[in-house]
Amino acid sequence: MTSTPVLYTRKNPFPAKLVENRRLNLTGSEKETRHYVFSLSGSGFAYDVGDSIGVFAQNDPELVDQILQALRFSGDESVTNKEGESFTIREGLLQNFQITQPSRQFLEAIAQRSEGTDELKELLQSDRTKELEHYLWGMEVIDFLIDRPSIRFTPQEFAATLRKLQPRLYSIASSLKAFPESVHLVIATVRYESHGRPRKGVASTYLAERVTPNSAVPIFVHVAKGFRLPQNPVTPIIMIGPGTGVAPFRAYLQERHATGAPGRNWLFFGEQRFKCDFFYQEEFEFFQKVGVLTRFSTAFSRDQAHKIYVQHRLLENSKDIYAWLEEGAHLYVCGDAARMAKDVDVALHQIVATEGGKTPEQAAEYIEALRKEKRYKKDVY
Ligand SMILES: Cc1cc2nc3c(=O)[nH]c(=O)nc-3n(C[C@H](O)[C@H](O)[C@H](O)COP(=O)(O)OP(=O)(O)OC[C@H]3O[C@@H](n4cnc5c(N)ncnc54)[C@H](O)[C@@H]3O)c2cc1C
Repeated sequence: MTSTPVLYTRKNPFPAKLVENRRLNLTGSEKETRHYVFSLSGSGFAYDVGDSIGVFAQNDPELVDQILQALRFSGDESVTNKEGESFTIREGLLQNFQITQPSRQFLEAIAQRSEGTDELKELLQSDRTKELEHYLWGMEVIDFLIDRPSIRFTPQEFAATLRKLQPRLYSIASSLKAFPESVHLVIATVRYESHGRPRKGVASTYLAERVTPNSAVPIFVHVAKGFRLPQNPVTPIIMIGPGTGVAPFRAYLQERHATGAPGRNWLFFGEQRFKCDFFYQEEFEFFQKVGVLTRFSTAFSRDQAHKIYVQHRLLENSKDIYAWLEEGAHLYVCGDAARMAKDVDVALHQIVATEGGKTPEQAAEYIEALRKEKRYKKDVY
């Protein structure tokens, strides 16, 4: 009798073994970006380049202890989540609830239990969303508990104020055609300080610090149909991916190399310093040597007095970028949504206007047409 293979999904994630965790930045870097390899053996995953992997992480046990202590819970108290599942509060804080950025419900519960008037109460009562956002920047659940030590919750009351811990998505940085049994991710570890306390991004530090070799992490494939390679292997592509934004483009290059796709490929990569932040330098040099990476433009922002970013490299190559677009190239942008993607978009408008002899309105129409034809694709976060 043959058994039906298990289908691994977001609801039933695959326990993937972590087989590699390597820092990509060298001594002298201000960044911590890591290369991860998970074994997919037995997963049945058949992802495409451009897709992402969802990772279910666990919260930091030290932070869980701090919260339990602030609330005077032993950790063994039983609580139930919104789905009706029961577990100890310690277990819940470790794997079920978002315990860093506070939810609206948590803030309201804090305001309700605080005596007198304070800024939080005022901001919650009025429609001052922007000011509330500003007030909350860098504030975590633990800050409210430490700052208001007289506030009391029962374990269930506290659990009911918390949102469910959501999985984090990461662009797939490898092709199954090059690595049929594994998936590679490129992840920047989130660490910062606020209100006098060191903070850790949930998933990025879980992977960096607490997943031991060969231990299993629940993962699933998140399909991104809108971020695929062009169907025609001859179509040229321009890829703009500074920092971790380079992840899907490493996968595209592997895929185009493995399939022998004749289309030209142009990569724009940016980081802080050539000496210590040039991830995958040797791999990209290999792709150049074998003719897969037709053009490679890099921008190292801190190697000179004035900052140079990928959008500056685009502008320097204005004529050729426009020529590639006129020849039907697809253009991809991946990485920082807050600044990079916007600056790249402005540069593109400028390039099309200058090189195409167009007014700003005509340049905007040209770029809108690219978007409609699905030739200008973004995966930004
Ligand atoms: C489709 C997609 C693909 C992605 N691909 C990648 C990828 O390939 N590589 C990658 O590294 N990431 C990628 N991301 C981002 C990733 O999903 C996570 O958001 C990121 O790793 C942070 O998650 P975390 O759990 O470590 O941090 P969280 O616990 O989620 O903490 C992040 C939060 O901390 C706060 N914060 C951060 N810095 C500061 C600061 N200086 N001051 C105050 N508050 C701050 C902000 O509220 C921020 O939202 C992708 C996202 C999407 C949607």
